[in-house]
Amino acid sequence: MRLRLPHLRRNVHDRGALEPVAASLRELASLERSCRRCPLYRHATQAVPGEGPRRSALMLVGEQPGNDEDLAGRPFVGPAGRVLDAALAEAGIERAKVFITNAVKHFKFVPRGKRRLHQRPNAEEIDACRVWYESERRLVRPRLIVALGGSAARAVFGKAMTIAQARGRIHDLPGGGHAAVTIHPSFLLRLRDPADKARQRRLFVGDLRRAGAFVAA
Ligand code: SF4
Repeated sequence: MRLRLPHLRRNVHDRGALEPVAASLRELASLERSCRRCPLYRHATQAVPGEGPRRSALMLVGEQPGNDEDLAGRPFVGPAGRVLDAALAEAGIERAKVFITNAVKHFKFVPRGKRRLHQRPNAEEIDACRVWYESERRLVRPRLIVALGGSAARAVFGKAMTIAQARGRIHDLPGGGHAAVTIHPSFLLRLRDPADKARQRRLFVGDLRRAGAFVAA
């Protein structure tokens, strides 16, 4: 397959890192599909670009595509996506009006028989993929970005952040715009204790509701 080489420019907000230039989300998605900046493209089915309106007040950033997203080529369509959809609905936010993406665009996994088990992307992979998140952000220009989990927070803030440190506040971002941090919906799928799960889900919906109120104000 012939690779497309993108035009590059300096991102003045990210220590002068080179950033691809795309005029539209469609063009950006095409560049992401040709990306070879880290080894994750080798075993994934396809890159999974962000999805949503070109101008969205709210942008959600997850960690990486899972098995279902890798096959479908769309973000948050698997079990974690269903948890997110239900939480968004409860928070009064229409998914169709939100731009949804991931910090890392290719699925990282280890094969176990017929299954492919999710593996958390490492810091180098998140940092290599950050140019695509930054390009999406530049095109969509959201008022608020919500990082879902620690990997997303690293992409959004450009450094390691713990959820406990950053949650519950609206942060100013370099270059304009704001960001908030909450859990990744897959965290709720891993909780076994029903009371704990219900409590964490309430907190998650509360975080999304605050995000919706911020962009509506
Ligand atoms: Fe490129 Fe990101 Fe895919 Fe790595 S994960 S190859 S940086 S698109």
